[in-house]
Amino acid sequence: MAKIFCVANQKGGVGKTTTAVNLAAGLTKIGQRVLLVDLDPQGNATMGAGINKTTLSASIYEVLLGMSDVVSARLKSESGGFDVLPANRELAGAEVEMVQLENREKRLKDALSLVDDEYDFILIDCPPALSILTLNGLCAANGVIIPMQCEYYALEGLSDLVNTIKKVHAKLNPDLKIIGLLRVMFDPRMTLSQQVSAQLEQHFGDKVFKTMIPRNIRLAEAPSYGVPGVNFDPSSKGAQAYISFGTEMVERIKTM
Ligand code: ATP
Ligand code: MG
Repeated sequence: MAKIFCVANQKGGVGKTTTAVNLAAGLTKIGQRVLLVDLDPQGNATMGAGINKTTLSASIYEVLLGMSDVVSARLKSESGGFDVLPANRELAGAEVEMVQLENREKRLKDALSLVDDEYDFILIDCPPALSILTLNGLCAANGVIIPMQCEYYALEGLSDLVNTIKKVHAKLNPDLKIIGLLRVMFDPRMTLSQQVSAQLEQHFGDKVFKTMIPRNIRLAEAPSYGVPGVNFDPSSKGAQAYISFGTEMVERIKTM
């Protein structure tokens, strides 16, 4: 049975997709079998894994609406070595169409049960909203990874996410927990980064991952080549940080 993790934060542009894609690639490098699920109509994880979102014959949209299944819709990321359940803008329609469906929060969970013995990790890249799509991610997952930038407004909004996770845990998915907060785009030269980072450790203790992901231009360049940063420039600081994060995740789930 795969361990299933959501990468979630309703704030936009905080590094969710970069984390999902590079954790997928990092885990693959250390021998784990990984499925990356793109749950965002922007399709950034799909493109970042080198898959053209405009030419998909099936995507997560069809899977959620029961018109296809994960086995038919998944594709291989050649540049990352892992499998991808891809998405494109069609998925935005699913939000509306799912409203009428039964069990609408658990469509993804049910869909993934078809393949969860084929993988060690299933990683879900969530959109920047606490929407029905994100809710599907939270219902399917064993845990949530929350990427955070260490800046003044980072903590604002975190309580909304934490409350949503608590509600889902209480009502829909008793399995769900926060696995950890991941500090991303970290700049050690900035006093503010260090202050916010220290605050996070104070509030959340060992829920804060030890690995910090630095701000690194190679990670930002990689998506335009359709290659995960971890493989685009393996010697870069960003790539190495995501490999370390993969190792930390493998360790952490041993205690789950
Ligand atoms: P959205 O909410 O729109 O889905 P997101 O949370 O998935 O965004 P990303 O797309 O991963 O965020 O990152 C936002 C931008 O920051 C991208 O241009 C990405 O390349 C860049 N970025 C992410 N992490 C880093 C990093 N560690 N160093 C430098 N740039 C980064
Ligand atoms: Mg994203």
